[in-house]
Amino acid sequence: MSWEDKVRKVVPYTPGEQPSDDHKVIKLNTNEMPYPPSPKVAEALAAFDVDSLRLYPAPDVGPLRDALAARYGVEADEMFVGVGSDDVLATAFLTFFNSDRPVIFPDITYSFYDVWCDVYRITYEIKKLDEEFHIVKSDYLTENGGIVIANPNAPTGVSEDKDVDFIEDIVKANPDSVVIVDEAYVDFGGVSALPLIDKYDNILIVRTFSKSRAFAGMRIGFAMGNSRLIKYMNDVKYSINSYTMNRPAIELGIAALSDEEYYADAVAKVVKTREWTARELRDRGFTVTDSRTNFVFAAPPADRISARELFSGLKKRNIYVRWWDKDRLRDRLRISIGTDEEMQALIKAVDEIMKG
Ligand SMILES: *Cc1c(COP(=O)(O)O)cnc(C)c1O
Repeated sequence: MSWEDKVRKVVPYTPGEQPSDDHKVIKLNTNEMPYPPSPKVAEALAAFDVDSLRLYPAPDVGPLRDALAARYGVEADEMFVGVGSDDVLATAFLTFFNSDRPVIFPDITYSFYDVWCDVYRITYEIKKLDEEFHIVKSDYLTENGGIVIANPNAPTGVSEDKDVDFIEDIVKANPDSVVIVDEAYVDFGGVSALPLIDKYDNILIVRTFSKSRAFAGMRIGFAMGNSRLIKYMNDVKYSINSYTMNRPAIELGIAALSDEEYYADAVAKVVKTREWTARELRDRGFTVTDSRTNFVFAAPPADRISARELFSGLKKRNIYVRWWDKDRLRDRLRISIGTDEEMQALIKAVDEIMKG
C-alpha cells in the first residue's frame, strides 16, 4: 500500500490552449471577447490603492456583491460571487449534489460538469440531446440528485428558447433537487431564467464576467437564487477559503458594472460578426447551428474536408479553434467570434485549405 493508492484521482478538464502572449495567433478557441474591457476598468486599475493589498478583502465580497445585486434586481442575500463561474459551479456542485441519486445533464455540454462530479464522487447520468442538439424535456422529469443545464449550451451554441416554459417545467417537476442553469452566454442572445428565482427555491442561475464582459483574465462569476441556497453555498465556501475574491477583482468588477452601454455595444458587434461568419460558412456548404453565443458550431461539408483536417490546416496558419475527438462532436469545429478582421482571415484560410 503506497500513498498513491489513496490519492483522490481524477481526469482533469482540458482547457483550450493558451499560447504565450508573444506567440502571434488568431485565437478563436476559448470564447474570449475580442474587445477590451470598458475604459472605466482601466481608470479603476490606474486609481487602485496598492497599499490596500496589505489587508484581507471582504470575505462576503460585499461591495461587488451589492453592485451585482442592484444591477440584476435581486437582494444581496440572493447573490453569490466567486472566482469565475467555474468556482461558483464547483461550489454549487459540492453544496447541492449530495445524494445517492444521479445528477443529470446532457451528453453534449460544458465538459467540466462530469469532471466536478468525478472529483466530488457524485454519481451522474447523461441524457442525449436530440438530433438538433436540443434537450429532451422528458429526460429531466425523472428522479434525480440534481440537474445542470447550460442555456445557451456549449459547444453547440443552441438556446432552449422556443418553449418559453422549458426551464420552469423542469424546475417545477423537481422540487426535491436543485436545478443549476449555467447562463455563461446568455448576454449574446439567450433567454434568462432569472425571473424564476422569485417563484422557486430550487433554481440557481450562474453567470460569468469572462465572456460578455471581456474579463476572463480577472476571474469573476456569480450565482443568483433563493437566499437559503446562497446561504448554504456560503457555508461551504467559508469552510474551504473565506477570501476568494481579491481586492483588485472586487474594485475592477464594480468598474465593469458601471458601463453597461459600452458592453451592450461590444456584445452587439460580436453578434453581428457571428451572423456574418455563420452566413459565410453556410455559403461554403457548412452546417452551422443557430448560435445564441459568442461562437459558432460548424460542420464542414463531409465530402470535401473533415473537421479534423480543417482544424489542423487552421492551426498551421496560426488560427486556433476547438475540435473534439468525441462521438457526435468530431465532425464539427467550435469557432469563437473574434473581430471582423480575424473572421475574414478565418474565412480566407478556410477557402485556401479547402482548395487543397
Ligand atoms: C466559459 C464557461 C464557464 C466558465 O467560465 P469562467 O471563466 O470560469 O467564469 C462556465 N460555463 C460555461 C458553459 C462556459 O462556457
